[in-house]
Amino acid sequence: MSNSPPVMKLPFVSAPCACVVRHVPLPAEIERHHIWPAYDQIKKHGKVIDDTRANLCPTAHTNVHAAIRRQLKGENFTLGNVYQRRIAEEGLRKIREIAEPQRQRAD
Ligand SMILES: [Zn+2]
Ligand SMILES: [Zn+2]
Repeated sequence: MSNSPPVMKLPFVSAPCACVVRHVPLPAEIERHHIWPAYDQIKKHGKVIDDTRANLCPTAHTNVHAAIRRQLKGENFTLGNVYQRRIAEEGLRKIREIAEPQRQRAD
């Protein structure tokens, strides 16, 4: 038997936050994070078209968005927590792989 954690598969919509084995103190609320951040979907499509979400504790949610924001700014920033990093990387992949829609030239 291996002690390695199971490979995380998408979507992990109904899985609990797994950033740690046991959250202490237990968060009073779990947040529903869009894997492909909603702000990027709205920017590119005018609305949310992919509602795939992960349940994150407030700390994980803050860290995932901080990592996405900082990496988009070009900072060499990596989360130490594997679960949080995996979700941030998936969000970045979505942001980067789905190009901006072509804009009509105004001139
Ligand atoms: Zn979020
Ligand atoms: Zn957590």
